[in-house]
Amino acid sequence: MNILVINCGSSSLKFQVISSDDGSVLAKGLCERIGIDGAITYENVRDHLGKEKTVTQIEDHKKAISLVLDALTDVKGGVIRNLNEIGAVGHRIVHGGEKFTKSVVIDDSVLKAIREVSDLAPLHNPANLTGILACQALMPNTPMVAVFDTAFHQTMPPKAFMYALPKKYYEQYKIRRYGFHGTSHKYVSEKVAEYYGKKPEELKTIVCHLGNGASVSAVKYGKCIDTSMGLTPLEGLVMGTRSGDLDPAVVSYIADKENKSAYEVVQMLNKESGVLGLSNGLSSDFRDLWKARNEGNKDATLALDAWAYRVAKYIGAYAAAMNGVDVIAFTAGVGENDCDSRKLIYDYLGYLGITIDDAVNAATRGKVQEISTKDSKVKVIVYPTNEELAIAQETYALVKDLK
Ligand code: ADP
Repeated sequence: MNILVINCGSSSLKFQVISSDDGSVLAKGLCERIGIDGAITYENVRDHLGKEKTVTQIEDHKKAISLVLDALTDVKGGVIRNLNEIGAVGHRIVHGGEKFTKSVVIDDSVLKAIREVSDLAPLHNPANLTGILACQALMPNTPMVAVFDTAFHQTMPPKAFMYALPKKYYEQYKIRRYGFHGTSHKYVSEKVAEYYGKKPEELKTIVCHLGNGASVSAVKYGKCIDTSMGLTPLEGLVMGTRSGDLDPAVVSYIADKENKSAYEVVQMLNKESGVLGLSNGLSSDFRDLWKARNEGNKDATLALDAWAYRVAKYIGAYAAAMNGVDVIAFTAGVGENDCDSRKLIYDYLGYLGITIDDAVNAATRGKVQEISTKDSKVKVIVYPTNEELAIAQETYALVKDLK
């Protein structure tokens, strides 16, 4: 079955068509600047036709989806003859609140529930909903599945997910830690178990999803028991542009000093902070930061050191939370590709009995590779994530028996 995977942002839409038979990608692409002007980039991966970018007016998400479907069925570059060859659509949904603990087939009640938790992710969930409605309008008979970023973390116990606030804030507004990147944490923790010939129930795994956004999770015997992101993806690690953990009093202090609203300060924490802020605005991209660091730039050096230190602290915390750890996995843009940043982290981990083969680490980029030595007490592995494939697989699992 061909599965169309849709990841809708407020002004963008990423898509892939994946075959459930072998997980291969038939086509993929991106619609950008939706509602502003517009462009679609499309790639027929199956026939190696390369990327093609077309600048065209895209007034809304419905138009974007119709452009995607046109490209997929195009006589020249398409990968299907008609829309009946798409068996199902899998939608990435950022926030499932407490309602969704796993992926679900979309019906009216699911749409209503996604709408109800939109307050928790005001930038993302409305865009995700728009994507679903646009697909439903153009493919009314195709089953659709919602795959939530938060779902995998719903197994966290209250002692991990509750903030130490007056209880009414949880009861009235559902303010608690939710966690994100769940599709990736689930996929990587399951794949790593498979790699070691174990069931997820047999392992204590720490997954470090280190991309532009970044989070760590503690997966004990197949279940997430803690993760570094919170009510929103701002909590936890130092990220590309997000501060991660800080004293909440910073918000009112800056608001007072600069005559800003709390909202404006939080925007700054989301968009101008992290390694971008620490490097004095140099870059949020780790390649730029390493180049500057190697040329002696002190701000870039501090940014990378502070970033790695925070990851190392979370690994220590989660080893404690699980009373041990069997496997530490690195994934996402930085985790998969950046051996120097990985080294900054693992240099803290000797106390866990971890030894790393530096040469193997240095040669590992974007592929599955154990980087710890044979006698290391804890396995350390690089395992590329694949959120689109994970969404396609979850979607297929839910729709394959539908009639
Ligand atoms: P997100 O999905 O959160 O946008 P990604 O997982 O795609 O992020 O990671 C993007 C980040 O990965 C980039 O900002 C860049 O810093 C880093 N990255 C990607 N490739 C490399 C590389 N070869 N070396 C170092 N860093 C890299």
